[in-house]
Amino acid sequence: LQKKWTGVDIPSAQYGGRHAVTMLPGGGIGPELMHYIREIFRFVGAPVDFEVIEIDPSTEGNDDLDYAITSIKRNGVAIKGNIETKSQGLDEVSRNVAIRNELDLYVNVLHCRSYPGIPSRHKNIDVVLIRQNTDGEYAMLEHESVRGVVESMKVVTVENAERVARYAFEYARQNNRKKVTTIHKANIMKLSDGLFLEVAKNVHKEYPEIEHNNMIIDNTCMQLVSNPHQFDVMNMTNLYGTIVSNVICGLIGGAGLLSGANYGDHFAVFEPGTRNTGTAIAGKNIANPVAMINASADMLNHLGHKEHARVIYEATYETVVNDGIRTPDLGGTASSTDVVENILKILARKRVN
Ligand code: ATP
Repeated sequence: LQKKWTGVDIPSAQYGGRHAVTMLPGGGIGPELMHYIREIFRFVGAPVDFEVIEIDPSTEGNDDLDYAITSIKRNGVAIKGNIETKSQGLDEVSRNVAIRNELDLYVNVLHCRSYPGIPSRHKNIDVVLIRQNTDGEYAMLEHESVRGVVESMKVVTVENAERVARYAFEYARQNNRKKVTTIHKANIMKLSDGLFLEVAKNVHKEYPEIEHNNMIIDNTCMQLVSNPHQFDVMNMTNLYGTIVSNVICGLIGGAGLLSGANYGDHFAVFEPGTRNTGTAIAGKNIANPVAMINASADMLNHLGHKEHARVIYEATYETVVNDGIRTPDLGGTASSTDVVENILKILARKRVN
């Protein structure tokens, strides 16, 4: 069970001791960030071979998406940039959402920890955000019932609400966390969010040593900005999850720092925590590579290459915190390649045991 809840039992393809991992660069800054990942992995000798699949959202049909999903099903594990969604027509679903749904990646985990020395509103934040990742407000069931009236369905199921609540409480138990807060708007959405909350309360009965409270989403945003230290582990539906993760990442240092992981019972996909495309900053050598590098280290951890993961985390942290080599989003003047070169310089001194 322990393995299951840390995601480690998810099967992964291995050939001659090396892991095969699907790499989806996505749009915007994705390709340049993936280039850095390959450079760093080569440098530390990480035993991973990438199967790189480009998804062009402007092409007709879903061949490249199907190919990507088949590849992740074969390899078990993927690293991913964001696939741009704005160029799509009204009748097309987001490829990002399609990948999560098709692979049943029902939980998104974002560990939000402050970096010392990075200018931020609050210090020492340490919150784990657990988000339902496949239904809720992202059901994409919208229609115009009569002209001028559009309806959008929010779907909450007992099965998915229970899986994500259990993940949150199990995460708390195994990581020595004290409290889970379920986020909702059950005062207004009495049936949908009411069910999500009721399921969480029921699951909590199996975890008496963990405190459980609940908070309305609007108050949560205010509390996060004014007093984020009251939160420990948070459990929430899909749309609240994307809002809250952006609020917390904004409090800590923006889109370029934190990584997020998507887990189902069979597959795992790693990516930057706030899932931005970064179209406006692409190709300028200013994108912060840290979130993607952290995602790649999360992936190595997941595959069991703990030492490779450790040296990459350490070198990245030392670059940003100790050496102060920071891209403009963190108030620095360094380029993306300055950050990566400094990481490689530190990695040259570190040993993979
Ligand atoms: P779009 O699809 O138009 O790019 P989006 O919703 O994905 O939109 P972005 O505009 O890409 O969001 O990102 C939000 C903000 O975060 C932007 O100001 C962007 O420059 C910034 N940002 C995102 N990722 C990074 C990064 N790795 N380094 C620095 N800034 C980043």
